Amino acid sequence: MVIKTVVLLLSYFVPFIVLLLLQPSFLVASLLWLMMGFGLAGLGMSIMHDANHGAYSDNKTINYILGHTLSFAGGSVFNWKLQHNILHHTYTNIVHMDDDIADKLVLRFNPHTKVKKYQSMQYIYAFLFYGILTLYWVLLKDFIQFAKYTKNGVNPGTKNENIATVFRMIVVKLIYFAAFIVLPIQIGIPVWQVLSGFMIMHFAAGIILTVVFQLAHTVEGTSHPLPNESGDIDNCWAIHQMNTTVNFSKAASFLPGIWVDLIIKLSITFFLAFVMCIIPTSHQLLKQPLKNMVSPIWKIKLLVLLLNHT
Ligand SMILES: [Zn+2]
Repeated sequence: MVIKTVVLLLSYFVPFIVLLLLQPSFLVASLLWLMMGFGLAGLGMSIMHDANHGAYSDNKTINYILGHTLSFAGGSVFNWKLQHNILHHTYTNIVHMDDDIADKLVLRFNPHTKVKKYQSMQYIYAFLFYGILTLYWVLLKDFIQFAKYTKNGVNPGTKNENIATVFRMIVVKLIYFAAFIVLPIQIGIPVWQVLSGFMIMHFAAGIILTVVFQLAHTVEGTSHPLPNESGDIDNCWAIHQMNTTVNFSKAASFLPGIWVDLIIKLSITFFLAFVMCIIPTSHQLLKQPLKNMVSPIWKIKLLVLLLNHT
């Protein structure tokens, strides 16, 4: 874990330092920004996600510090924990509860909202929008989500706490833009090159992060359960997780280790969640649903998921 963390941090910051010190040609600079995009995605998938779940380390301080690697992308840890840890993991694939599957602009991620005519082309244009995800996140999403979660009560903060949270959010974003846009311009890199490179970095990170996280839930084979008349989901949480999440391409050798890490964690989550749900019943039941539900999922290849998820 430590080596992986150091490598990912270096893969994000070293290209940027080289960019500032050497001010290479636009082509080389673009490659450096691209590397930063990969580094950023890796940090998000493999460090920030785990740390903000409290799962990176037994040490709370380490989780706290590494969870704030999200600030390196200008994002808000406070919002992430509400949206991801609480809403996404508690209400996975439940429309109007899990923001990950909410309709966004021209994109539709669940079967229960109205289909627009142009969405038959979504499988093509989706990737373009995936590419602007992290940029949208830094500029707007955090503020929109914060207002929404404060209004609907997901955010339990008091008025004063909320003022402090918004203040921290703004400061993090200002520092982020100062470091990654203003600083390179100040030392003499042309504005158009800095803005183009910044977009390349975000585009790479956005596509990688969105594809990886969407493929776990928004594909054929997962379900999108609706609450019953009393507002409950029929299955217990663990079975619900099994029905709404897939594991994929575990054995694929070409995938980066960081991705495989995430997949292995999904597998462990599946297993533990399943055991939690089934232990009070018979041993035979434990075997049967695992056989039925997990095995086919292992066989799904990444390419198949990519093709059918939009
Ligand atoms: Zn998670």
